[in-house]
Amino acid sequence: MKTLLPTSTAGSLPKPVWLAQPETLWSPWKLEGEELVEAKRDALRLSLDDQRRAGIDIVSDGEQTRQHFVTTFIEHLDGVDFETRKTMRIRNRYDASVPVIVGAVSRQKPVFVEDAEYLRQQTDQPIKWALPGPMTMIDTLYDDHYGSREKLAWEFAKILNEEARELEAAGVDIIQFDEPAFNVFFDEVNDWGVAMLEKAVEGLKCETAVHICYGYGIKANTDWKKTLGSEWRQYEEAFPKLQTSSIDIISLEAQNSRVPMDLIELIRGKKVMVGTIDVATDMIETPDEVADTLRKALQFVDADKLYPATNCGMAPLSRRVANGKLKALGAGAEIIRKELSA
Ligand SMILES: [Zn+2]
Repeated sequence: MKTLLPTSTAGSLPKPVWLAQPETLWSPWKLEGEELVEAKRDALRLSLDDQRRAGIDIVSDGEQTRQHFVTTFIEHLDGVDFETRKTMRIRNRYDASVPVIVGAVSRQKPVFVEDAEYLRQQTDQPIKWALPGPMTMIDTLYDDHYGSREKLAWEFAKILNEEARELEAAGVDIIQFDEPAFNVFFDEVNDWGVAMLEKAVEGLKCETAVHICYGYGIKANTDWKKTLGSEWRQYEEAFPKLQTSSIDIISLEAQNSRVPMDLIELIRGKKVMVGTIDVATDMIETPDEVADTLRKALQFVDADKLYPATNCGMAPLSRRVANGKLKALGAGAEIIRKELSA
């Protein structure tokens, strides 16, 4: 990465009103068939344009191509029954109606590769593509076939690796695995969670990232956060193992959160995507606030390894708010770049 402090978003951006219901998480598509295919591409270009205008350096599709960060991927796999759903508790926090694993899972064809190729054609900037992590995938499913979370995660890791290799061939510069489950199932993270991630990135030459967060600003998450006390030390559990892993970049949440900044010390040597934008509020950060968070982070991460980002995805926000936050991110990073070069 040539630019110092390259900015990016952790994940999703709002969808246009003609594509899906605005300010709604996981809202269903408003179009179908060929119209939907074309509309998703138009939305991707708009989202890319918003990122460019805000001075975002590492761009993405804004997740305009998917309805849900986990289920859209799973929908494309064999062995999953989407008709007979079961209710499950997600990350010990909220109930959701989830698909059921009824047989061996497999990927017959690429899921996001065509979308990534399309994004690649639209820009010369570095591009990042997000995939769900294996542990987060199994936590969003009911398993009626494998009878072991670890076995199922292993199967998913192999499938993710196939997809990731093809995304890399399509020109993706950074492949990010979303693992919010790493902030919840600490024993499993250390027993096999990080190992599954290693399987998912096996053989990749592009950069790899893992995004671990406290989730979207939905009620189930904000209620959960209230129970976490005055200091959120969850990262302490997974970071030591990740520090010795082959994952290049760790994406974490820092803005307005109670995560002690010095936990970043635990992943010294890694590139760190520091969340400087709170996605759980409509209040738009000022560039100075973003710069302030970055200054604090610089105590624990070398400047050439600091990647300013958002705490999490911004899909549930209005486009006005999300664009304001993107601009603050771009401008805040620029303040620190100037300070560092002075
Ligand atoms: Zn997130």
